[in-house]
Amino acid sequence: MRLSNLTNTFFPISSLIISIFLFCIYFFRKHVKNDETKIYGYLVICGLVEASLYCLICFGADFFYNQQVHVYFEFLNKVLCSVYVVWMTLFFYYVAIIAIEKIQKYSKKIITALVAFDTFLIFLIFISPIELYFDPVLKVSNSSGAATNLLYLICSIYLLGILLILFTNFNNKQLRGKFIPCYAMVGFFSISLLIRAYDPFFNITSNVFSFVLLIMYHTIENPDLKLIEELNIAKDQAERANNAKSEFLSNMSHEIRTPLNAIVGFSENLQEDQTLSESAKEQLQDIVSASESLMEIVNGILDISKIEANKLEIVNTEYDFRKILKDLVALTKVRIGDKPIELKTSFDPEIPLVMYGDHVRIKQIILNILTNAAKYTKEGTIEFTVSTVKKEDVCRLIIAVSDTGIGIKQENIDKLFTKFERLDMEKNATIEGTGLGLAITKKLVELMNGTIVVQSVYGKGSRFTIAIDQKIVPKTILQEPVKVIDGIVDCTGKRVLIVDDNSMNLKVASRLLQKYKMEIDEADSGFLCINKISSGEKYDLILLDDMMPKLSGVDTLKRLKEIEGFNIPTVALTANAIAGMREKYLQEGFDDYLAKPINKEELNQIIAKFLQS
Ligand code: ADP
Repeated sequence: MRLSNLTNTFFPISSLIISIFLFCIYFFRKHVKNDETKIYGYLVICGLVEASLYCLICFGADFFYNQQVHVYFEFLNKVLCSVYVVWMTLFFYYVAIIAIEKIQKYSKKIITALVAFDTFLIFLIFISPIELYFDPVLKVSNSSGAATNLLYLICSIYLLGILLILFTNFNNKQLRGKFIPCYAMVGFFSISLLIRAYDPFFNITSNVFSFVLLIMYHTIENPDLKLIEELNIAKDQAERANNAKSEFLSNMSHEIRTPLNAIVGFSENLQEDQTLSESAKEQLQDIVSASESLMEIVNGILDISKIEANKLEIVNTEYDFRKILKDLVALTKVRIGDKPIELKTSFDPEIPLVMYGDHVRIKQIILNILTNAAKYTKEGTIEFTVSTVKKEDVCRLIIAVSDTGIGIKQENIDKLFTKFERLDMEKNATIEGTGLGLAITKKLVELMNGTIVVQSVYGKGSRFTIAIDQKIVPKTILQEPVKVIDGIVDCTGKRVLIVDDNSMNLKVASRLLQKYKMEIDEADSGFLCINKISSGEKYDLILLDDMMPKLSGVDTLKRLKEIEGFNIPTVALTANAIAGMREKYLQEGFDDYLAKPINKEELNQIIAKFLQS
């Protein structure tokens, strides 16, 4: 039996079905457009044309001969053979373009040259005397004859070219996946040639092409664009939700700060009332401590939301690290309270006098670690050491805090820096905390390109070591912007204007200022403040809230500065107390910045700076 009998129905139909299927799934779905997918698209079209022609030839042979129209039939055969060559050319080009990067640069020129070469060959073979002499076209259902053989020879040359590319890129791991259809092509096409040599009427070329295209469909870069679109929409929504969350947290923090300002302000004021009983004073102290804890939580949530939204900026300025260390020691002593804990300190005397970095964040990082040491240690010692390694104008600060506290289980060390993760809750249940401190600390250290390392023995104690590089500023003394004044400055005869839209805040601020014996005036909007100044009222200081409806503090100041002769020092008073705000307000033209809830010490410094004569 001749093999070709088999081809009559099964092979042409299966090839056509696969080609139609590929055409539909490729062209009716969105796909990426690049050189590779473009050529694949041409191959799919070419494959469909080829499979259709092949079916027409196989099933129309009897009809064409009965109708005595062999000329058309021969023409169809010639076109089919030509499509084979075009398909092979495209496939060769596909392999070349994925394997040889340089080709992509000249892709248009190369493809034009190849198409011209093919057209010339096809023309030469089918229209020229070769065809006339060698009767190329088969009479029953397929191409055979010298001219057709010649075209198969051209296809084989392309195949050799493909083999050469595959061979030279054999070790390229990245291309292995993409080369699978190429190996399949080489293998199956060689088999189809062998079969043709045995039986020229048995043609499975069309099936080889459609099968190879089917494999290629899975190896070309064809991500599901619809899925990508959906993912992008989902990503956008998630980003918007995240931004909304950050904004909500930021607003919430502002909203919480305002009433907290009143609670802390009134309580501190009341504490100074000599007529109060000791127990009332103690309760007031508890109110202040509870408010401070609440403040820490609000600040922590705000920080973490900023960090997650990538909005937390490192604000570098010149600073005096020794002063920070002094403050940190004082604060830690307060945290230790009356626990039997000895705080040992050892600071490298070589610490540069002035460094350049974000001192607010550095202080926050160290304070978090020191506070934890104080929180999680019942008795014993806390050792706080700072050593330095200098290289040119950079000083590496190595800050270590060791404690003899409860320690951390080894399996928990990895979880330490996860937000809202609190460990060992059976032991820590009575210790206040949110599980945010170390998550923030780690992010801050990373933002400064530093490192943090934890060593701990459960039940014995822990040691946190932080290394951060800071620039050394070659100055001997940093000009202290503000002198720390402990006593109350006498401001008799001075006039201060407080501007705030919130009546409670106005009350708190004026109560706090009363003890300075100054004359206090109030305005509940930026407009009223401008009116007062324009109508010639004289003040020695203005405390101006920023977040006011209709006219913000920043805009009020801009208008004030337009008033001729205006030169009253103006301090921003705001609950917008995240790091970097001071710099922002100074840039906006304010003379200084005071965060709410108003800290007595800071207020003292401001008063001393602007009103002490
Ligand atoms: P918080 O202290 O608010 O719970 P942190 O993020 O600062 O949150 O700390 C996370 C957890 O790590 C704490 O709940 C505690 O279990 C553990 N931890 C942190 N520092 C120490 C320490 N010095 N000794 C023992 N455990 C600690």
